[in-house]
Amino acid sequence: MRQPVEIKSKIRLKDLDPSETFGLTKEKARAATHKLLKRIGELQSKLYANTDRALIVVLQGMDASGKDGATRALFEFVNPAGVEVANFKAPSSEEREHDFLWRVHHVVPRYGHIGVFNRSHYEDVLVVRVMKLAPKEIWAPRFEQINRFEKSLAESGYTVLKFFLHISRKEQAERLKARLQDPAKHWKFEGADLRMRAHWDHFMEAYEDVLDKCSPPHARWHAIPADKKWVRDHLIARRVCEALEDMKLAWPKAKEDLSKYKVR
Ligand code: ATP
Ligand code: MG
Repeated sequence: MRQPVEIKSKIRLKDLDPSETFGLTKEKARAATHKLLKRIGELQSKLYANTDRALIVVLQGMDASGKDGATRALFEFVNPAGVEVANFKAPSSEEREHDFLWRVHHVVPRYGHIGVFNRSHYEDVLVVRVMKLAPKEIWAPRFEQINRFEKSLAESGYTVLKFFLHISRKEQAERLKARLQDPAKHWKFEGADLRMRAHWDHFMEAYEDVLDKCSPPHARWHAIPADKKWVRDHLIARRVCEALEDMKLAWPKAKEDLSKYKVR
């Protein structure tokens, strides 16, 4: 069976190969990605002119899974004025004084924009669960709370696309080693990365639950094989491009009769 990307039923991450290429070659995939990215740039200009639609791209994955790299790649031809990137770190004391979705709703992109969530509300059922930052009575009901939240976003004109960047434990080791060895990457390294890595299998179980419980048609998860950056970038570009095409965006009509104007 071909490895699923769009998650429509329960999967086991062990059955998915993080270095799957779907028969693509690097050269062909990069050429196709280039075209998709240019098209995303065009479609984004149209989205920007619309005031009732927006796109939210959620990126989740273990440390060094390529969330930053995927963001950079996706917007090569996009006007940065129409993009809002939100990075979700451990909550501040003010954020902890609110319900877990408060800080998320706060950074939902305005209409016409593309929002990227680099990590997201899913941390509240991932790191919170695995590192035991809250008891099960707190995190377990959050799957449904998240589903309701995303449903209400979908009903309000938001397309929500969610990508789990699936890297292998081995590939993560290579990338973390590079962070330790290269002075230009030292700033990215944290001792916490190794503590999380020690809980790899628990994280995979938690991700499996997320993909199983929170992938309705209006806010699907995609499991992106992410050991190869060119596969990752290609699959994300393809899905984002499709989602923008599906919006059937048109240029908004003039607000008044323009024939009366003459520019001298
Ligand atoms: P990279 O993948 O490049 O390492 P990153 O996304 O890990 O980047 P960091 O600034 O290194 O970015 O880490 C953010 C940290 O904040 C992560 O360890 C994440 O688990 C943690 N975090 C995010 N949301 C929450 C939350 N709700 N509760 C606790 N920790 C959180
Ligand atoms: Mg990190």
